[in-house]
Amino acid sequence: MARPLKATIDLNAILHNYKYAKKLHPTCKAFAVVKSNAYGHGAVKVAQYLDKEADAFAVAAIEEAIALRDANVVSPILLLEGVFEGDEWSVCEQNGFWVAMENAQQLESFINSGVKIEKIFVKLDSGMRRLGADKTLACELVSKLRESGRVGEVLLMTHFACADDVSDSMTMTQLSVFEETRREIGEIQASVANSAAIMKWAVPEGGWIRPGIMLYGISPFVGLTGRDLGLKPAMTLTSKVISVRTLEQGERVGYGLSYEAPERHQLATIAVGYGDGYARHTCNGAPLQINGMAAELAGRVSMDMITAKFKDTSNFLEMGQTVVLWGENVPVETVADAAGTIGYELVTRMTSRPRYCYL
Ligand code: PLP
Repeated sequence: MARPLKATIDLNAILHNYKYAKKLHPTCKAFAVVKSNAYGHGAVKVAQYLDKEADAFAVAAIEEAIALRDANVVSPILLLEGVFEGDEWSVCEQNGFWVAMENAQQLESFINSGVKIEKIFVKLDSGMRRLGADKTLACELVSKLRESGRVGEVLLMTHFACADDVSDSMTMTQLSVFEETRREIGEIQASVANSAAIMKWAVPEGGWIRPGIMLYGISPFVGLTGRDLGLKPAMTLTSKVISVRTLEQGERVGYGLSYEAPERHQLATIAVGYGDGYARHTCNGAPLQINGMAAELAGRVSMDMITAKFKDTSNFLEMGQTVVLWGENVPVETVADAAGTIGYELVTRMTSRPRYCYL
């Protein structure tokens, strides 16, 4: 018998969320951001499913892009972190990869490589101070790339630091730095919007949007779930109760004995742990569902197991009952909150240990 832990991925939900992003900006084309194994959902499966619909994919690194081509994904693929080594340029040319560029070394290695690239996205640092060229360098990169005659189209991109906080004026500041740079360059297509910006900010029309987390039905905003935003959550993580015991009042549970029974009640042991990607810091009281009823974590997360109880402890626990760790009725955002993290991290840190089933 197989371990009962299962991650079910609804590919159609991802397609729905991609179309939803495009509907919000009908004049834009859209990357489907599938970096980091499609945020834990399986990049090859997701990209194969979206290949006919997606305008293009975006990944962080060249290895991720090669894995998609090896799996016969034909849409263009953008390397968001750009190229690190000169010999990668010919791989990009052969595979039709598009490349982000932010510094003079990357420009030089491109010029020296002699290759032709269909699209290069010059990345402007409009205020996040992580990647990107300043305004002067960005303008220079654009004109030198155009002069090279070896780039089909040069575009200008930037990334927002605070788009998930609608009360933060930083996004407007970044947008005005971006627009100022764009004016200086003249005619150029833009790419600025991540999921939060796609859903809540006015972004330049006519360019490329870059939805990531929203494709997976997860909210980038604190206090809102994907469903609140009209998205369909794509991943459901389920397992089963593998052992049941009764705790007397005052009995304590698990590593560090961090949970103490406030009354006599049953306790379920469930096959999932931090070795599977369930965050170790998820705290007592975190939500889950057993046999369709509300339950909560009771005890520290182990490598292979967690312990939990019904919220209403008069409900009866039995071995073999189905447990929803997140998915329908247990938003991953609320579990992330109980682990002191964000939905992005919970799904992305999923390991290869659970069984992955694709709908
Ligand atoms: N664009 C860039 C450059 C990114 O690094 C990311 C992800 O971090 C995205 C777009 C997608 O962001 P999100 O998942 O918030 O939509």
